[in-house]
Amino acid sequence: MAFELPEKSKARLAGVHPRLVSVVLAAAARSDVKFVVTEGLRSLERQKELQAAGKSQTIRSRHLTGHAVDLAIWEDRDADKVVDADEISWKFPQYQQLAQIVKEAAAELGVPIEWGGDWTSFKDGPHFQLPWSAYP
Ligand SMILES: [Zn+2]
Repeated sequence: MAFELPEKSKARLAGVHPRLVSVVLAAAARSDVKFVVTEGLRSLERQKELQAAGKSQTIRSRHLTGHAVDLAIWEDRDADKVVDADEISWKFPQYQQLAQIVKEAAAELGVPIEWGGDWTSFKDGPHFQLPWSAYP
């Protein structure tokens, strides 16, 4: 069951690598788990802020070049297609479910994808990126 990505989410895909955009759109097209895009391309200023706040581990974030996106689980409980703050969920099992859908969509498109939730040192459930190995 597909769902329509909110306009704001689509806007946040501006500047993101076209292959990664195609993965996100394909995931939305097949997903029964609703999600929003919370961040795509990130400025160096914001990266420095996040790192200082301990919210990012690296200054070499793939967000800086548009090779990463953050997706958040959206529980559209009232089904009004409006993303209310209390409809965003951070429960890890839901991200595992979403990651499965994103990985399947990526595999179908032949795009390698790396999920932050698979990282061992710093699990980043909302984070998806094109791997350095394939996209230096
Ligand atoms: Zn991220």
